[in-house]
Amino acid sequence: MDPLLINTGPIQNIPDDNSPEVKAVWLALENVKDPEIPVLNVIDMGIIYNVEINPAEGNASTCTVTMTPTFVGCPAIDMMKKSVEEEVMKLGFSSVEVKVDFENTWTSDRMSEDAKIKLEKFGLAPPVVIEGELTEAQLNNVRCPHCHSTDTTLRSAFGSTLCRAIRFCFACQQGFEQFKPV
Ligand SMILES: [Zn+2]
Repeated sequence: MDPLLINTGPIQNIPDDNSPEVKAVWLALENVKDPEIPVLNVIDMGIIYNVEINPAEGNASTCTVTMTPTFVGCPAIDMMKKSVEEEVMKLGFSSVEVKVDFENTWTSDRMSEDAKIKLEKFGLAPPVVIEGELTEAQLNNVRCPHCHSTDTTLRSAFGSTLCRAIRFCFACQQGFEQFKPV
C-alpha cells in the first residue's frame, strides 16, 4: 500500500493530484519526528498543512512547507521546523522555506488513527475524539494505555510537557500521561 495513505488521516490536507515531486516531499516529512513524542512523525500528527514547489532560476526549484503548531508556544515547534527544512533540503531544492501558520488551528482530530495507536503503545493516552461540543464526560472518557480501563481520573492538567495531562487509573493503580484534546 502507498505509505502516504497509511499515515494520513481522512482529513489530512493532502491534495489527491500530487505531482511526484510534491509527493516525495510529503514522504520525506515522515522522517521528521515530534521531539516530544518520538514514535510520531509530523505527518502522523497532522501538522503539515501544505507543500508547494515553485520553479526558480535555471533548473532549480524552491519548496515551501506550511505547518501549524499543535499548541501555541509549543517549544518543539522550532526543532520540528529545523528538521523539516533539513529533510526537504536533502531532496535537492535550491531553497526551502518553512512557514509556521498560527492562523490555522490544529485540533487533535487531525491526528491519524494510526498515530493514536502508536501513541497508546508508547504509553501515552491518545486525545479523545471530540464530537460536537466539548463536555466534561467526553474529557474524562480516557482509556488507560496500560490496561485499557476507562476508570481514570485527572490528577494534573500539566504533565511533562505543555500538551500532556497526568491521569490516574483506578483499575491498575498506575499513573499515565494523556495527550490533551484540543
Ligand atoms: Zn490502567
